[in-house]
Amino acid sequence: TIGMVVVGHNGSVAAGTSTNGAKHKVPGRVGDSPIAGAGSYADSMVGGAAATGDGDVMMRFLPSFLAVELMRAGAEPLRACKAALARIKSYYPQFFGAIICSNIKGEYGAACNRVPGFSQFPYMVSDPLTGNPLLKKVDCF
Ligand code: ASP
Repeated sequence: TIGMVVVGHNGSVAAGTSTNGAKHKVPGRVGDSPIAGAGSYADSMVGGAAATGDGDVMMRFLPSFLAVELMRAGAEPLRACKAALARIKSYYPQFFGAIICSNIKGEYGAACNRVPGFSQFPYMVSDPLTGNPLLKKVDCF
C-alpha cells in the first residue's frame, strides 16, 4: 500500500491509499485500502490516518477511523496510531500491519506491529518549512 495523509494550507485534511492487493487473493477481493475508516480516514476538524498490511484482518477493526477518533479525543498522533494497532493486536497478535497518523497541527506519528521480519516501519514526511521530504522510521511494538 501507498498511504498518504495531507494537511492542506487551507486546513482541509485528505487521506488515501493505493494497494498492491494481496497474495493469493480471491477474484473480486476488495481489501481494506478503499474502505473508508479501514485503509484511510480523514476529518478536517481533527486529522487523518492511513494503514497498510494484512487488510483482511485490519479492515475488521477500522484502524484509521479509530486513530482519528482517538486524536479527536485528544490523543497525540503517535499514541493514536499505537492504540489503533494495539486493538487489532489484542485479537491477532501476529498480524502484519502499520499505520500513519497526522493531526491538523501537522504533528504526526506512525506505528507498526512487531512480527518476525518486521521490526521497523519507514515512512516519509514532507516538511513545508524546508520543502524537503524526510525519511522517518519507527520501531514496531
Ligand atoms: N492493505 C492492503 C490489502 O490488504 C495490502 C497492502 O498493504 O498493500 O489489500
